[in-house]
Amino acid sequence: MVKETTYYDILGVQPSASTEELKKSYRKLALKYHPDKNPNEGEKFKQISQAYEVLSDPKKRELYDQGGEQAIKEGGMSGGGGFSSPMDIFDMFFGGGSRAQRERKGKNMVHQLTVSLEEMYNGATRKLALQKNVVCNKCDGRGGKEGAVKPCGVCRGTGMQVRIQQLGPGMVQQIQSVCHECQGRGEQIDARDRCKQCQGRKVVREKKVLEVHIDKGMKDGQKIQFGGEGDQEPGLEPGDVIIVLEQKEHPVFHRQGQDLIREMEIELVEALCGFQRPISTLDDRVIVITSHPGEVIKHGEVKCILNEGMPILRNPFEKGRLIIQFKVVFPPSGFLPIHGLAQLEALLPPRQEALITGDMEEAMLIDIDPVSEERRYKNEAYQEEEEGHGPRRSGVQCQSS
Ligand SMILES: [Zn+2]
Ligand SMILES: [Zn+2]
Repeated sequence: MVKETTYYDILGVQPSASTEELKKSYRKLALKYHPDKNPNEGEKFKQISQAYEVLSDPKKRELYDQGGEQAIKEGGMSGGGGFSSPMDIFDMFFGGGSRAQRERKGKNMVHQLTVSLEEMYNGATRKLALQKNVVCNKCDGRGGKEGAVKPCGVCRGTGMQVRIQQLGPGMVQQIQSVCHECQGRGEQIDARDRCKQCQGRKVVREKKVLEVHIDKGMKDGQKIQFGGEGDQEPGLEPGDVIIVLEQKEHPVFHRQGQDLIREMEIELVEALCGFQRPISTLDDRVIVITSHPGEVIKHGEVKCILNEGMPILRNPFEKGRLIIQFKVVFPPSGFLPIHGLAQLEALLPPRQEALITGDMEEAMLIDIDPVSEERRYKNEAYQEEEEGHGPRRSGVQCQSS
């Protein structure tokens, strides 16, 4: 039992979530709420980051499970219970490089690309159109004529404005804010000297189409990096574009590592007397499976086909397994013709005779609909709660008639 579930709730996972599930959930939410995409959700982005920072560290997670947020704040974490900056967590997760690298480099841009399981099986090329900043070629990123750039007259080149506010007699408050005149850039270009193409912004927006190669065997969460394709800024090495693949759920196949898993319904007659079934693969072949004569397939039984799972990345001739979970469908009518039962019984393993004596009471078996039964049980529990007491009935009750 964990003390509180807030961090798990923020990430939308169960307290029993695996490291993989935590990563997957963080990946989705962080991309969704990143300030680049959702500038108004800064607080949410911070919460996601903090929850992930704690839960992704086994020691901190244990501490949190035992003592909740309080335990984390009470110095269980280094630096007096502080959290890393959400951007650092994000950059570390998506491979943004070290802090020193980032100072010389522009920001990385992370995009999500949804792909089908078929594309990951067969390989594919997808075109992705992005908007990015490119250094203006008309002014070479200066923003205007040579020598036109001057320090901002309002903030004297600091980019910040300081306002003094009188709070009371002898009490003043200094309020620092970004300079409105230059938007924090600290410089100014006279309107007539401004570059006509970029309006003094030094960069222009441009559409760029990236070709994303999805290799056979790539998986959900895989990152594909385009070096230097991020926003350009004068005097700075551009950052990278990082494409994160997200696999669409497939209606039939579920992937687990290199294996593909699927369910297969078979009739009772097939389970007992054998069957043959065609299976369509993700590369549009059809393979046939045949059960051994005389073999009985049990409900829930699991079998596999070697080398029909997902291709191994960079070694695509090798594949994982195709795992089949059998579901035996019993006769939907619920009845068999009585006249044939003796023949059927003769083929089945003998039954164990139960000892029935005359002093036993005869009882009736009645059908129960699981759905209405569950509804009824919930209602009962609700009523008991209303009354505040009352006998706790457990299990299912039969109405005798
Ligand atoms: Zn320009
Ligand atoms: Zn200014």
